[in-house]
Amino acid sequence: MSITNDTLQIKFRAFNPVNGQPLDEEFAEALESEVNEACEAAASSFVTYRKKSGEEKAIFFEAIADELLLLGDTLIERASLETGLPATRIQNERGRTIAQLLLFADLLREGSWVNAIIDTADSTRVPLPKPDVRQMQQPLGPVAVFGASNFPLAFSVAGGDTVSALAAGCPVIVKAHPAHPGTCKLVASAIRQAVSKARMPSGVFNMVHGITHQVGAWLVKHRAMKAVGFTGSYAGGKALFDLAAQRPDPIPVYAEMGSVNPVFFLPGALRDKCEELAKGLAASVTLGNGQFCTNPGMFVLVNTSAGMEFVQKLKEAVEAVNVGPLLTENIQKQYVKSIQRLAADPSINMLTRTDADIVQSHVFTTNTKAASNHDYITEEIFGPCTMGILVKDKLEMIEFAQSLKGQLTATLHSTKEDLEEYRELIEILQQKAGRLIINGFPTGVEVTHAMVHGGPFPATTDSRSTSVGTQAIYRFTRPVCFQDFPNELLPAELKQENPLNIFRKVNNNFVRDL
Ligand code: NAP
Repeated sequence: MSITNDTLQIKFRAFNPVNGQPLDEEFAEALESEVNEACEAAASSFVTYRKKSGEEKAIFFEAIADELLLLGDTLIERASLETGLPATRIQNERGRTIAQLLLFADLLREGSWVNAIIDTADSTRVPLPKPDVRQMQQPLGPVAVFGASNFPLAFSVAGGDTVSALAAGCPVIVKAHPAHPGTCKLVASAIRQAVSKARMPSGVFNMVHGITHQVGAWLVKHRAMKAVGFTGSYAGGKALFDLAAQRPDPIPVYAEMGSVNPVFFLPGALRDKCEELAKGLAASVTLGNGQFCTNPGMFVLVNTSAGMEFVQKLKEAVEAVNVGPLLTENIQKQYVKSIQRLAADPSINMLTRTDADIVQSHVFTTNTKAASNHDYITEEIFGPCTMGILVKDKLEMIEFAQSLKGQLTATLHSTKEDLEEYRELIEILQQKAGRLIINGFPTGVEVTHAMVHGGPFPATTDSRSTSVGTQAIYRFTRPVCFQDFPNELLPAELKQENPLNIFRKVNNNFVRDL
């Protein structure tokens, strides 16, 4: 029995970032007893949910998609009110969230995602007969999900973490983001409708509100929870990672955190497309008021006259963009504080407007020496700004790339000749980032089978995974092996006759037939 602290219940409201006013509805932070109840319900629903077929889960996902659409403008308006993001942006995000659900429904229906591997027995092998060994991926158990403030739909209650955990066969408890609790409540109600329509066990999905870190801590520490999916700040992700590691039975935390997503402009590209590239970078830096985890917060180029022309055009293009309010008061304060710190540093050149105490878009430049002296120069500032690192030559660019921490993305703008000359840079960047882009910009993450939205620490707490795309499912599974099992006791995916007609790796060949 756990001791609970149920005497105080904290109440809170969301704020409209456009006018700073509190919104109408009041929300109650979950009590410890409510968190415990949700965790226990998740654990008992796991017994049946883990056995649901791909078809049953696909129907469940389609029902969630339908219910989300049925929320109509109510959802769009509430999300827009709580985030300050325009309705069109929220509509697009809803489209992405629904497409993500349907992509996973297809994956589940097809079924081969379980990675069935079969090594058949050989009784004639000497000196010892070879056993029949079969493995497949199975769900870990209940998963706690924390969404970020900047994607109120696609990285929130029905976002990538929830969908990939449910797809794996894991019940989910979402810790609602306190910046958009009304949006979270609407989406949670849609998922609950779908749970009932698709006849899923009721504890398979739950959501708890919280404005203090306490609720998240109770969730992560509860013995029923078997993994955590997190999207948000470095501070939040690392805190939850540490908490999970301190449990008597540590559990994996897949925290997707911030990144500066360096963009390297190579000499040939700068020579050929200086203005176009400057405008492209400015658009990417200021997209969504710079509040993307893939925001290009850093660019690197050789300090030549073409490089300086690019920087000047970038400054003009960035200054031409009107920046809207940032998502929360806290994000606004953090942004202004970070900009003021850069503005006060004599080793940094602030190219844009000099008033650093209001939210504006900014371009800075500096050199590698300053960058190596102050960590804050190469760390994410969440908002519409970018830091140029000016290097003297190719060698210094390569050395700087070598010094970079883990990133979600790394981008190169280059001609064919540049790519030949900077091959070493490409090799280095593969060791630094989860996704490499040539002649594009990092903002915008496709939800596909091959996508990697991850990267070495500190971009994430586990570089072996992605939080976007169907491969995200493997964060919440583990391989289970069956040795010399009678056919009738094997899961359908591993039975001799392959009743689900899935692709399996049999004696090292991918086949549908045994
Ligand atoms: P955040 O402040 O870290 O919040 C994310 C969630 O974590 C919230 O539910 C928050 O709840 C909880 N949380 C934060 N610190 C915690 C702690 N110490 N203990 C327990 N719970 C904690 O992040 P955000 O401001 O919403 O999002 C912006 C950040 O997310 C940016 O850095 C951005 O780059 C990153 N992001 C990353 C990705 C990606 O895929 N890698 C995608 C989108 C955004 P409380 O507020 O109650 O603490």
